[in-house]
Amino acid sequence: MSRLVPVLSVLHAMEESYLALPKISRRRLLVLSAGALLTASPLGSLTARAAASYKLPYPQGLVWPCVQGINSGGSHSGRAAFAWDFRMPEGSPLLASRGGVVSMLKQDSNANCRQNIYACPELNNYIVIDHGDGTSSCYLHGYPGGARIRLGQTVRQGDYLGLSGFTGQAAGPHVHFQVQYNDPRLYLSQSFLIRFDEVPGDGVPVRRGSYQSANAPLPDFDIRDGHFYTQSNGTGAPGHGFSVTNEQNVPMWTILLGGGGATTVGYPLSRRFYVPGVDKVYQIFQRQIFEWSNPDQLMRAINIPELPPQPIDPASWLATQNALPVGPDLAVADRFWDQYVQSRLAPLDSQPRMKEVYWSVDDPISRFGFPLGPATDTPQGVSMRFERVGFSISRRDSGFSKAGDLSVSVGGDMVLDAQPFSRQVFQPEPLFPEYDLNVLQPGPAPAPLA
Ligand SMILES: [Zn+2]
Repeated sequence: MSRLVPVLSVLHAMEESYLALPKISRRRLLVLSAGALLTASPLGSLTARAAASYKLPYPQGLVWPCVQGINSGGSHSGRAAFAWDFRMPEGSPLLASRGGVVSMLKQDSNANCRQNIYACPELNNYIVIDHGDGTSSCYLHGYPGGARIRLGQTVRQGDYLGLSGFTGQAAGPHVHFQVQYNDPRLYLSQSFLIRFDEVPGDGVPVRRGSYQSANAPLPDFDIRDGHFYTQSNGTGAPGHGFSVTNEQNVPMWTILLGGGGATTVGYPLSRRFYVPGVDKVYQIFQRQIFEWSNPDQLMRAINIPELPPQPIDPASWLATQNALPVGPDLAVADRFWDQYVQSRLAPLDSQPRMKEVYWSVDDPISRFGFPLGPATDTPQGVSMRFERVGFSISRRDSGFSKAGDLSVSVGGDMVLDAQPFSRQVFQPEPLFPEYDLNVLQPGPAPAPLA
């Protein structure tokens, strides 16, 4: 049975507080007492604590800078003396540094007091994981509504906890992480020194250092207003992939969820991209292309033919992908792109003359767009509408052409020189490309298959 023992609230003197604890006499603890309570455990579990493994609280391969270290004064003193701040954009994934039970949780704050970070403890969002040995970990400043675990849930090291944020007592987006002695009254109780398995040297991150996590890999995860997928990035590099979001009121993420998610629609193969000529926004997935029309405010899902029947098991799909010689040349994206193009150009097959003219120019997809449907046959001639132009073959002579000539018309406000489908849309992007800290780096390459 554990007992409540009053202990110091300021542990500056205890650099090795946690390992040193058994050496400090109970009398000295009482002398040092400044009112904070902790649950002391028998020596045996203290030994178990010493052996506990802690990993950086974000997914494998991601690198984030430590912007405030332990015992640095100010907000990292007193109960928070043994805390680290890792800077990361709002909405970055947080993983359990060590397993336990979710014992405290707040995620309803959506504000901070960056001007005076001591002013608003009530605005801190937090997740506290109780390790079951009288200690717990606190993850502070979480994204509003960003928890992906529930109170009482058991989590293992590396489990996804939710989204980081910029709430409460923070001057910028980051996670404040500390390991502490449990106090049922406090989500931030007295912290003590721990060491991270993957941090070189003594395991203690220092300010201005950047640290690559060796915690669990996380192939896809929620981000602000959407989801981030690394599965189809062609390289296996963590931190690069394609985000699917509802940004700018284009509901790609909502539609993907409604369509059954990546399990049915497939992983994203492109960034979202805008085609000015038709005022549409596209994103290509393995089995469908989402087409958002700005004028109509409507989403259309275009099926991609010749792909495996759905639903597909993501794990087995990944295994297939790993067996392909994919690399930075984006061979997989190319393959799906070619299939997409082939299907969109199918109407041309019935019109050899149009097909010939279409392919007589450089980059006809950019210049003419895809056919909008099959050819229309009228007494005047045969015509086919493309995204940017109209093709027609007249049956009679006219002031402009002779019978059998093919003419290309540019309708209304269509834009001839638009560059609709740049190969760039198939380049995986870093997580949060707009973020000014370019600290994401690829991790080790996946092991080659025999
Ligand atoms: Zn902090």
